[in-house]
Amino acid sequence: MTDPADLSVTIVDGYVDEPAHFGVPPYMSTYPRYTAGALVDAGVSQDSITYHTIDELRDDRHKRADVADADLFVYVGGMTVPGSYVGGTPAEPDEVRELGWTADGTTLLGGPVRFGVGEENAGAQEMERDDLDYDFVAKGDVEAAAHDLVAAGLEGFGDRMRDNAEVDRWAALGAFVVEQHPNHPDYLICEMETSRGCAYRCSFCTEPLYGNPAFREARSVVDEVDALSDRGVAHFRLGRQADILAFGGDGEAPNPDALRELYGGIRAVAPTSGRSTSTT
Ligand code: SF4
Repeated sequence: MTDPADLSVTIVDGYVDEPAHFGVPPYMSTYPRYTAGALVDAGVSQDSITYHTIDELRDDRHKRADVADADLFVYVGGMTVPGSYVGGTPAEPDEVRELGWTADGTTLLGGPVRFGVGEENAGAQEMERDDLDYDFVAKGDVEAAAHDLVAAGLEGFGDRMRDNAEVDRWAALGAFVVEQHPNHPDYLICEMETSRGCAYRCSFCTEPLYGNPAFREARSVVDEVDALSDRGVAHFRLGRQADILAFGGDGEAPNPDALRELYGGIRAVAPTSGRSTSTT
């Protein structure tokens, strides 16, 4: 069995854009950060984890050697809403497929790409899923798949969603990877997750595919901001939730104490950060 301590891993960020999750630069989604943390939690050395954005690989083809040579190549990406972007260009399906062919090691594909792949990046209106020639496709959370795949010696994993205790660990453990983002530190905005899922079921939206809202503890989010701030991140967006005003609530009324703990805690650990913004 492959010892996780001996593994080299390359993560390529093809970018994500979901109804409640930004990940095209200047934003950095949670996926590569949590995946990096999950890999460290499974025993992979931080020094053996390389992160590239798809735009880096377009600008410098030599960096594709990191994809070719890694023992494990993890692609994260997926656009489930149509959009126009100025800070980066999301990976096209043909590029994702080519990266899978480039890799000599084990390959894992995950993120919202699991919801569907069309002929181009125009949202997920075409929901036929294409595995794009990867060894493994994470049909649950890619970070859980990466963790379990490494823990099983690259033999396989069972699809599953991660739990909040794992988020607590992986969010902090994966903060180091932001330093490898080409926008780091000044032009990087880390997308922060306070919950996933939605209580409503709008037919055009993929957020309900995550189920009903599952709130993180304010302390967990604050600890993640603290870890990212220690790594030089100055900008955060509280955007990974369907409704920030529902944070910590019962689904009927806002919870001012939970919101105060969240925002006050963030300001306490990152007093010089840029203005935190949120979706409605
Ligand atoms: S209310 Fe929920 S399901 Fe409807 S658009 Fe907003 S996040 Fe999506």
